[in-house]
Amino acid sequence: MSTIFGPVHSRRFGVSLGIDLSSRVKQCNFDCLYCELAPAPAMIHQHTITPVEAVIADLKEALAKHPSIDVITITANGEPTMYPYLNTLIEQIDTIKGNIQTLILSNSACLNDEKVFNSLLNLDQVKLSLDAATPETFKKIDRPAEGIEIGEIIASITRFSHVFKGKLFLEILFVKGINDSLSEIEALNSALLGIHCERIDIGTIDRPPAYAVQGLRFEELYALSHHFDPTLPIHIVSRTHAQATPSSYSDSDILSTLDKRPLTRDDIDALFDSESKERFQILLNQGKILQIERSNVIFFTPSENINRKRSK
Ligand code: SF4
Repeated sequence: MSTIFGPVHSRRFGVSLGIDLSSRVKQCNFDCLYCELAPAPAMIHQHTITPVEAVIADLKEALAKHPSIDVITITANGEPTMYPYLNTLIEQIDTIKGNIQTLILSNSACLNDEKVFNSLLNLDQVKLSLDAATPETFKKIDRPAEGIEIGEIIASITRFSHVFKGKLFLEILFVKGINDSLSEIEALNSALLGIHCERIDIGTIDRPPAYAVQGLRFEELYALSHHFDPTLPIHIVSRTHAQATPSSYSDSDILSTLDKRPLTRDDIDALFDSESKERFQILLNQGKILQIERSNVIFFTPSENINRKRSK
């Protein structure tokens, strides 16, 4: 079985070739309620390990077939930072990748391991998950292996964000009734204020989950996004956009909505009815609304607020 999948086109990261560091079996130190894979007890160490040579051979073959790749994404059926030869693998990818970016998608749990921390510093882009900031909610939603503590994870992400030279993204996945309370959002908000990152993607369940839990509607996710500090680079990523009910917004509604939280074209399509979209377009043409780009994602914000963007 090849360890490579794709290319897949992601609006957030471009055209990606994926590396699966656990292609035969799920191996994860979490057992998240919302996981798209079947439930499996959380474990600390991988027991089925793919040799680095096999991954590199598959990658060379895939790169020869697909030369126009933006990013090589290290993932796993489970948690890729549990792979014991991660550093060697990254070093070897660097020798063959040319100008292609490297990215890892991680649940953040191994970041307090110095070996993993230092390996991730060698990547171009890192996306870390942070679903909760309190121990109770963390245990409920991510169901970690014993000994993994959310306080240590947040401290490691914070430290990493201050030394990493590449692009750091965070992702929070909300599950209805589990991590969407105001107190949890307040705890997440204070953790996020200490972390320097390009973008914080907030989303919800959009594929069948491992356990019987529910996602949020787009409107709920959108309302929840306003409880975060406006200086945080929050981006709503959700396929539930399509289910939203558009409403009418006056010019001042549009400007104050964008003032609270910059929106993407998908958000606007989901939230605004057709007349409001026309009003939005006029404000854009008049220069009262400007486009800003945050790592491949275009947001719209009132021109008066452009200087409020939080810089890394
Ligand atoms: S960290 Fe990812 S792979 Fe592991 S259980 Fe959670 S969602 Fe599944």
